[in-house]
Amino acid sequence: MRLADIIEQKAAVQTLQRAVEVDAVAHAYLFHGSSGIGKTTTAVSFAKQILCETKSACGQCSECLKFERKNHPGLRMLEPDGAAIKIDQIRVLREQVQYANEYYQIWIIKDAHQMTVQAANSFLKLLEEPPQRTVFILVTDNLQQILPTIKSRCQMIGFRRLSDAAVAQALENRTAEVDRKKLALITKMAQGSIGKALELWDSPLFERRKWVIEQLVELPRMSVVEVLGLSMRWEENRDLFDLDLRLMLQWYRDLWCLKQGLKEQVNNIDYLNELSVICQKYNLSALRQITAAIVDIFSQLERNARIRFLVGNLLLQMRKGVLA
Ligand SMILES: [Zn+2]
Repeated sequence: MRLADIIEQKAAVQTLQRAVEVDAVAHAYLFHGSSGIGKTTTAVSFAKQILCETKSACGQCSECLKFERKNHPGLRMLEPDGAAIKIDQIRVLREQVQYANEYYQIWIIKDAHQMTVQAANSFLKLLEEPPQRTVFILVTDNLQQILPTIKSRCQMIGFRRLSDAAVAQALENRTAEVDRKKLALITKMAQGSIGKALELWDSPLFERRKWVIEQLVELPRMSVVEVLGLSMRWEENRDLFDLDLRLMLQWYRDLWCLKQGLKEQVNNIDYLNELSVICQKYNLSALRQITAAIVDIFSQLERNARIRFLVGNLLLQMRKGVLA
């Protein structure tokens, strides 16, 4: 893909294109923004353009041909080894960049926030005296975890959430069959991330959605004991629970919309009858609190909290919010 073909990230793409055109490519870039919105794709396209003989990713020159065969020696990827980018990996990188005299090297460092402290300090030394003919593109969806000293030596390139239309288009382009209902539902749930949308497309979404919604419909009538029993039966599966949380979030947002009379904004349109009944059982402030609690659980999940514990608290809060 050429930089010019990347949709929706205009500001980032224009900055990068201009840098190549006026021969002012920086030593180091930091691409940041949520996951699945095209940061790595853009980094690869940028690398192709820099390496091309005519600086246009022409697709015809010998550099572009090597690139397309995926054996261009100038394109290097560094990814976490397990859960971290370790000092040994940075040592190898430092040895490799000595050869940049012979050929240009572009290093794409994925999940750059996962560098260990030693790795980050070692990498920092490299940024302080950047090697010739080398470009580092650090990619992260967690900017807060990048050392300020590294940030200050990189040109920052921010990536934005994609529009629903762009996500839907990307899904249509990449999937053979198009099921309109599924497409609409997944687009809403992906919240601007093509990566998330593709993941959801192959997930057990539909059966799971039916089950989760059945529980949410029953919940207002359950006793506290029943609620706890349900939480104990919840599967300890983080990917599945991430999906469950998205479904819950959508459900309570729908209730909130209905409560405000915004029927046209409801996503779970096939459950409109159930939603209309349940919506009478909550007031707006309870719905707001439950929605905030679900959002909060996403971050607790990242900190490795136990699912049954999290879901137990959440379901109790949902049950307690029901008007007497
Ligand atoms: Zn070319």
